[in-house]
Amino acid sequence: MEDLSRLFRLAAEHAADYRRSLRDRPVGVPVDRTALAEGFGGPLPAGPTAPKRVLADLLAAAGPGLVASAGPRYFGFVVGGALPAATAADILAAGWDQLATNAVTSPAAVAAEAAAGVWLKDLLGIPSAASVGFVTGCQAANTVGLAAARQHVLADAGWDVERRGLPGAPPIRVIAGEERHATIDRSLRLLGLGADVVEPVAAGPNGAIDLGCLRDVLRAKPTGPTIVCLQAGNVNTGACDQLREACDLARRHGAWVHVDGAFGLWAAASPDTRPLVDGLDLADSWACDGHKWLNLPYDSAFAFCARPEAHAAAMSYSAAYLVGSGGASAGADLTAESSRRARGFAVWAGLRELGRDGVAALVDRCCALARRFAEGLAAAGFDVANEVVLNQVLVGFGDDARTERVVAAVQADGTCWAGGTTWRGRRLMRISVSNATTTEEDVDRSVAAITRLAA
Ligand SMILES: *Cc1c(COP(=O)(O)O)cnc(C)c1O
Repeated sequence: MEDLSRLFRLAAEHAADYRRSLRDRPVGVPVDRTALAEGFGGPLPAGPTAPKRVLADLLAAAGPGLVASAGPRYFGFVVGGALPAATAADILAAGWDQLATNAVTSPAAVAAEAAAGVWLKDLLGIPSAASVGFVTGCQAANTVGLAAARQHVLADAGWDVERRGLPGAPPIRVIAGEERHATIDRSLRLLGLGADVVEPVAAGPNGAIDLGCLRDVLRAKPTGPTIVCLQAGNVNTGACDQLREACDLARRHGAWVHVDGAFGLWAAASPDTRPLVDGLDLADSWACDGHKWLNLPYDSAFAFCARPEAHAAAMSYSAAYLVGSGGASAGADLTAESSRRARGFAVWAGLRELGRDGVAALVDRCCALARRFAEGLAAAGFDVANEVVLNQVLVGFGDDARTERVVAAVQADGTCWAGGTTWRGRRLMRISVSNATTTEEDVDRSVAAITRLAA
């Protein structure tokens, strides 16, 4: 037992040392992938290795390939850090090794999810009666939300898709913005609807759907089983669809509305940005990430559904050995997993650490820092290509080839890290400010480095 304490303490100390180093270490480091593979490689050992030695070997092997994405100057993709209490809670979740399937396998895990679910709905302005599934990421949350949608719109048409499947079912219409996230298409493929089912809706100048086009697309065919996918937080521009108006239009056609709000739904947590997602409560299902803007450790996301019965009908499972041992619907009935880890502890801890005001401040700070980025880079003569409404900034440095060179130079330099993207046919640098530890000084240092490298 003494050895176990030492081993766990060593792991936690290494993690803390690593976190402390993030502010100063180069954000992008050149990685020798062959050496990295060799560090982990070699034949499977025939016999056992002492845990202490395994930990030492892992530290040595992984170290050179770690990305400082949890640090304050990592602006790639939409990546948050991991709050201290949430990280500590995740360490405990691993140590406790709880099975979050239901209230028998871990009453504590189920209770933590229930409490965190109430807080999440409160913060996001989602109806309190909604069900919540704790899933791996927004990809999974989109799949769960759209599975509930599929179940409900077909049940309305007199078809039990959970029993009969899709062969012979009434056709389902899926209407989604042309700027939807690619995970929506994968969810549709997994649900047997196929990516080609999408009837695209054109986007306006900043990437939110054009309401007139949504109206036209809805009217183009007679009413029937219909799902409308809306978005809060365009992954390039941060733009949010006009949810109130779009939900009203969809409702008039009897459609189910699913909102992909991986990071943008957090706009609801601050009074300053809440108008961007006005009307979100009118939707039927919502997908939202915890590991992006809420700064929870991976992997953590939420599938909310205003119709718990459709949610459970789509996702629940039963087996003889579960009967009489689980009770009411819990974890396993609201996600696509049976056995899974207890990610609710970290969600609860992160929300408790920040509190309502802390979440609002996190959102406001990231938005203010994104504007600071845009102003700094515009002042240096570069082209900010989007309207900065949230935490995303797109920047051009001349033609596509020149922008690519600047992105590559910034990634090699190590002061900060930002990726490239294509938006409206142009290659651009994409900057996402999503980390709870980023400061004005971090942004100013990054703007200075980008300006220097672009010159
Ligand atoms: C990131 C993102 C997703 C996918 O989320 P994962 O957590 O990576 O599964 C879906 N939709 C939008 C809008 C996103 O930004």
